Amino acid sequence: MAEAAPSLRYLPSVDRVLRQPDVATLVEQHGRAETTQAVRDTLAVLREEMRPGIAFDDATIVSAVIALLDTRAQPRLKPLFNLTGTVLHTNLGRAVLAEEAVKAATAAMREAVSLEFDLASGRRGERDDHIRALVCELTGAEDATLVNNNAAAVLLALNTLSQGREAIVSRGELIEIGGAFRMPEIMARAGARLREVGTTNRTHPRDYADAMGPETGLILKVHTSNYRIEGFTAEVGSRDLAKLARRHNVPFVNDLGSGTLVDLSRFGLRKEPTVREAVEEGADLITFSGDKLLGGPQAGFIVGRKDLIAAINRNPMKRALRVDKIRLAACEATLRLYRDPDRLAQRLPTMSFLARNVEDVRQQAFRLAPVLAKILGDSAVVEGAPCSSQIGSGALPLDTIPSFGIVIRPKGGGRAVDALSAAFRSLPWPVIGRVAEGALVFDLRCLEHEDAFRDNLASLRLEAGP
Ligand SMILES: *Cc1c(COP(=O)(O)O)cnc(C)c1O
Repeated sequence: MAEAAPSLRYLPSVDRVLRQPDVATLVEQHGRAETTQAVRDTLAVLREEMRPGIAFDDATIVSAVIALLDTRAQPRLKPLFNLTGTVLHTNLGRAVLAEEAVKAATAAMREAVSLEFDLASGRRGERDDHIRALVCELTGAEDATLVNNNAAAVLLALNTLSQGREAIVSRGELIEIGGAFRMPEIMARAGARLREVGTTNRTHPRDYADAMGPETGLILKVHTSNYRIEGFTAEVGSRDLAKLARRHNVPFVNDLGSGTLVDLSRFGLRKEPTVREAVEEGADLITFSGDKLLGGPQAGFIVGRKDLIAAINRNPMKRALRVDKIRLAACEATLRLYRDPDRLAQRLPTMSFLARNVEDVRQQAFRLAPVLAKILGDSAVVEGAPCSSQIGSGALPLDTIPSFGIVIRPKGGGRAVDALSAAFRSLPWPVIGRVAEGALVFDLRCLEHEDAFRDNLASLRLEAGP
């Protein structure tokens, strides 16, 4: 301490730095409080680095302040390149929205909108009015409502129809979906009593029939989104459950999870049950997500019988779970694209990623592999190689889509792979791949903006070698 004191005089005061001409523009850009704080913090860091005989000139100090302010001005929520090979990656925000949805959401942000206002009559309207007709047209359902996400849709349906009563579910469908979404816990929070029937692998019609009674609030079927039970299995189909429910005069709710509005086989994928089919099979209510296979913003749809949707809308919880004007606008625009399924693969990013031809991905890999090889020099071996994408978010959990990627194998093993992944993550547009067998793999299926990807790579900073 005693010997550090004399060198402190080499650092200017905060005021003196703030009087520098270049700092005045910083104040205009970032505000006085933010700039003053950055000057203070910069001087504090430099004070730590002070050694007798070292002085920092004003230019060095000012550029350190600029760098600190730039870093602090970066948003925390950053756009990035999802090269994980998982098209609908929950941690990376699931669906990338269509341009039409982006435009609609932007307009809704900028302007006042007819959110709950009926322009024809000049009277109060409902949020759901903007999507009801479209959803009914696309699914064949009688009525529809929109909430925060599918978890909210399930919660609201259960709470409305089976609070204080039993909800009958097969033991094979008591799923957990990432984070804290566990079906038995959601049911408990919804106030429903879980009545499990059948076994993990086999549930029969008589299991449901035996459980029906005066306490029954509803029958629930849950799409086993993220796993598949194979082998000696039996489940009761929706048609049979619908009949049983009708006989006992209780509603049958089908939680489809991802839910799709089109037959995915037209995009070369395996068929998932569509919402329209679930309606035809006789479910009284169907719930599904807006940002899974549908390719829209985070939202949850509840479609089905008019009287039940009306009951849901009367539930005070609906208010807590409703969507805002921005997502409503994006939802409407996304749904509209489904009226022309032939152009869906061009207009809806989720579909265009899923339907993308592997040869197209392969050619992109061969264009970009040399670019990466050049940047990485002899620190790594870079090559194009086939890989497998997956849909993600619990749709077709075991199915993979043939894809193509770039495999980067750094010299120096595991630690070098971690360092390389970190370097790509700290790019202005972070690039997120997956690590497999000592290599960093970039699956290019979801890489749309190739030029931006190349430009971004110019900022790659590799750690100095050992
Ligand atoms: C994904 C999923 C949910 C939850 O949907 P979110 O949109 O993530 O809230 C509920 N049920 C099933 C079957 C799912 O697959």
